[in-house]
Amino acid sequence: MKKRFFALIIVLGFVLIFISTNNLPTVESEHEEELTSLNRMAVKAANLEVKGELAGEKIVLDAGHGGFDSGSVGQNETYEKDIALSTVLTLKDMLEDKGATVLLTRDRDDFVSLRSRTQVASTHRANLFLSIHTDGFEDAEAKGMTTYYYSDQDEIMADTIHTYIFKDNIDTENRGVDFGNYQVLRDTYVPAVLLELGYITNVEDEQLLNTEQFQETVSERIVQGIIQYVTMRTVNNDEHNYAGEGHMIAN
Ligand SMILES: [Zn+2]
Repeated sequence: MKKRFFALIIVLGFVLIFISTNNLPTVESEHEEELTSLNRMAVKAANLEVKGELAGEKIVLDAGHGGFDSGSVGQNETYEKDIALSTVLTLKDMLEDKGATVLLTRDRDDFVSLRSRTQVASTHRANLFLSIHTDGFEDAEAKGMTTYYYSDQDEIMADTIHTYIFKDNIDTENRGVDFGNYQVLRDTYVPAVLLELGYITNVEDEQLLNTEQFQETVSERIVQGIIQYVTMRTVNNDEHNYAGEGHMIAN
């Protein structure tokens, strides 16, 4: 009887070992985990599609001048302040369509101090600041578009946006990207650029700046430039973090 009892114990032992090594629930849960992570990725991609490429970005749009400050005035009485505001309003809709949160330094024909304009970015902890102007010059021959930056790190954003504006045919002269000592760039502590969309004092530019089509084309390309800049910034941040971890491991 004792022998039988021991044999039974041994058999039971083997059965228990067999069950524990063939732990089906573990295999299943691993599989489930894999599925869940795939689902999570799909949900993330779908969210990005719904929310847009600029979801999470807080962008300040600054329409130059306003109120008693008309800015430059064209030969056919076009005011810089009006072109700046209507372009900013077009740009706002397009950026919001891509999921960005847009803040305006002015949304009507009001005077706003330069200091108040830069404060909008810091108060609301914005990610980007974009100031829209048109140029004016005593020589009516001067024409074309220029993009300005103040700090070295903002040159990348200025370059990216400017490149997108001139990526395809556009009916204006390319005056390039340049350093600009503007207060709205100097005193804004987030990536900031200032665009001079054209010379309002040049008759051809004045006419062009007044067309809805030009304002829309420029706005569309600015949006594409911003998306490209934001994508590059995200990739750079990821690489930077990765390098940072490697450095810690090496030490
Ligand atoms: Zn101006």
